[in-house]
Amino acid sequence: MSTFRFKTLEKTLSRKPKKVKEITARRSDIFAVNVFNEEAMHQSMTKEAFKHVQEAVHTGQKIDRKLANQIASAMKDWALSKGATHYTHWFQPLTGATAEKHDAFFEPISNGKAMEKFDGSQLVQQEPDASSFPNGGIRNTFEARGYTAWDPSSPAFIYERTLCIPTIFVAYTGEALDHKTPLLKALQAVDEAATKVARYFDKKVSKVTATLGVEQEYFLIDDAFIANRPDLKLTGRTLLGHAPAKGQQLDDHYFGSIPDRVMAFMRELEIESLKLGIPVKTRHNEVAPNQFELAPLFEEANLAVDHNSLMMDIMTKIAKRHHFEVLLHEKPFAGVNGSGKHNNWSLATDTGVNLLSPGQTPMNNLQFLTFFVNTIKAVHDYEELLRASIANAGNDHRLGANEAPPAIISVFIGQQLTNVLNELEKVTKGKLSPQEKTDLKLNIVGKIPEILLDNTDRNRTSPFAFTGNKFEFRAVGSTANAAMPMMVLNTIVAKQLQEFATEVDALIKDKKMKKDDAIFNILREYIKQSKRIRFEGDGYSQDWEKEAAKRGLSNNKTTATALKTKISKKSIQLFEEMNIMTPVEVKARHEIELDEYIMRIQIEARILGDIARNHVVPTAINYQNKLIKNVQGLKDILGTEFKKTAKEQLNLIKTISNHINEMIALIDQMSEAVQRVDNVDDIEKKADLYCNDVKEYFEKIRYHSDELELLIDDELWPLSKYREMLFTK
Ligand code: ADP
Ligand code: MG
Repeated sequence: MSTFRFKTLEKTLSRKPKKVKEITARRSDIFAVNVFNEEAMHQSMTKEAFKHVQEAVHTGQKIDRKLANQIASAMKDWALSKGATHYTHWFQPLTGATAEKHDAFFEPISNGKAMEKFDGSQLVQQEPDASSFPNGGIRNTFEARGYTAWDPSSPAFIYERTLCIPTIFVAYTGEALDHKTPLLKALQAVDEAATKVARYFDKKVSKVTATLGVEQEYFLIDDAFIANRPDLKLTGRTLLGHAPAKGQQLDDHYFGSIPDRVMAFMRELEIESLKLGIPVKTRHNEVAPNQFELAPLFEEANLAVDHNSLMMDIMTKIAKRHHFEVLLHEKPFAGVNGSGKHNNWSLATDTGVNLLSPGQTPMNNLQFLTFFVNTIKAVHDYEELLRASIANAGNDHRLGANEAPPAIISVFIGQQLTNVLNELEKVTKGKLSPQEKTDLKLNIVGKIPEILLDNTDRNRTSPFAFTGNKFEFRAVGSTANAAMPMMVLNTIVAKQLQEFATEVDALIKDKKMKKDDAIFNILREYIKQSKRIRFEGDGYSQDWEKEAAKRGLSNNKTTATALKTKISKKSIQLFEEMNIMTPVEVKARHEIELDEYIMRIQIEARILGDIARNHVVPTAINYQNKLIKNVQGLKDILGTEFKKTAKEQLNLIKTISNHINEMIALIDQMSEAVQRVDNVDDIEKKADLYCNDVKEYFEKIRYHSDELELLIDDELWPLSKYREMLFTK
């Protein structure tokens, strides 16, 4: 092992777990202590002000200036009492995780005095320097004006002595520049549409909320390794490195004991998350070595998205205190399981019913089936857009990589529900109002609760699986802002439910059909129409790829291809019609995503070229020189006979030369390709070219480097190896 690598390893092995103060209080006592939630508001506001805020939260009603001042004042007193010194509008720009601009409460006033200030206008609206955030050409930089506006549905919180106010981020011309704005619109759309449908079953329902539980997978690597791996440091993934002999066959890691240092990190993370009102509960190891998962309990979707973004930030910071680096990348190590962000999603009524939970009575189950089948239909109709919603450069390494959901969207529902849908489909083929068959229908519908009881059916290979009382969108990448897939999912479900209601109403009105019959008849048609999206088999298999192609499902394997759907006529129409985004906004976002994609491949190409040239090639030459000296020495003492004795060394010298030559040639070709592609103006074309003409060199260059890694004296190899990074605790 090289001295440098040895030192790195020694450092990591000698580390002790950081002491984290064990909290003596119950978890529930620290929960949300740093959140200006209902309880905190209740205690610090007048009854009237409190009532207004609640109304604003629950009905989206506007908050007037006077009231805003009252709230700001209460918020400020609360924050100061908790030791906060600054406040910030916290938002989620279109690239990067979260953004904020801190302002101090402290303000000098006349005659040398100062005071803490924060009023309604500072709470409600701010103007960050918008020019530094991506806008996809919506604004020219010289008129870079945008503002952040308070989102009262996500409570303010204190993080690192700063009062953070969740906000949306919008251009002065009205276009959204963030992830939250369209998400909020989609959530409202699904609320309206789902409420209308839920009222077929229960007139007391007046609001439906999308619920979301985000499971976050990540790797934890000692930070000493990062210093030794420019690729990890700058791109979040290893561009080179031979897979360890001892791979993920090491299944005992899964749910295995969590090493002390990791445990200390997790404990601190849990405490900090709880204080911020993030309901974390479970923790266990994931499939790959040094891979872990954090799964908070589900919450209202907007809040869950905010909490996930916040948590990614907290994790990164806390990890540093423990000398770890959190790797959120979808595929930090080739050949090792990647990381996802499983989005568990459902719909809940304000009467406390989970609409995707099968019920106790046939009527409840008709309700369940309604939302279940409509969701499947929505995914069926917009599978390609859903795929596009999770496209990014990192996720390309994960989707379809034989160990992650494929790039083909399909829905898994388990054998029992498949049987139910198959039976329902057969009832009274084609005919519309089979009054006489009512009993039969309800019998089938009524069977669901008992058969679902042993729903142990799990299919880890499915990108979109029904798991008992919710759908789990598993294909989302670990770095993603969950707002994006959630915005799309809720939009398409809203659209689908709208259509459903229209069709049901038409049958009731025009055909004088009974409500239940109308509902049942429409559902039966949907079951038929959306059948091809359902798939129960092994999503990783080649057979499925063929079968999916036959079924006409999309299989967009790269981001460059997948993103095209975002600006298809169908998508633009959907977002416009559902009032989620204007065509300008859709196109701007598309451009930003392409830009981001291009930039990531560009950076990877550069780093890969650098490492290969500056680390790998010199090391290979160095080793080769050692071999040459050896052969030379043999020649000196053995004379002509040396050729036989040094046969292997000579071969090795040749093999190494070949790898070096081929690798350098490939690096040169890649650099040329980058230069060529960079001259292309059309951004979509450029993304395609980066995908097809540049990225293709990565694997080829890597191949030679990884071969060299195996050949070269371990003493000389400069970069930390997979086995060191993955199996050191
Ligand atoms: P499993 O993966 O075994 O089904 P859990 O039941 O713990 O595990 O659920 C995983 C995630 O799904 C958790 O974040 C959980 O809070 C979330 N979840 C459970 N029920 C719902 C629901 N109705 N809506 C949204 N998310 C949910
Ligand atoms: Mg999971």
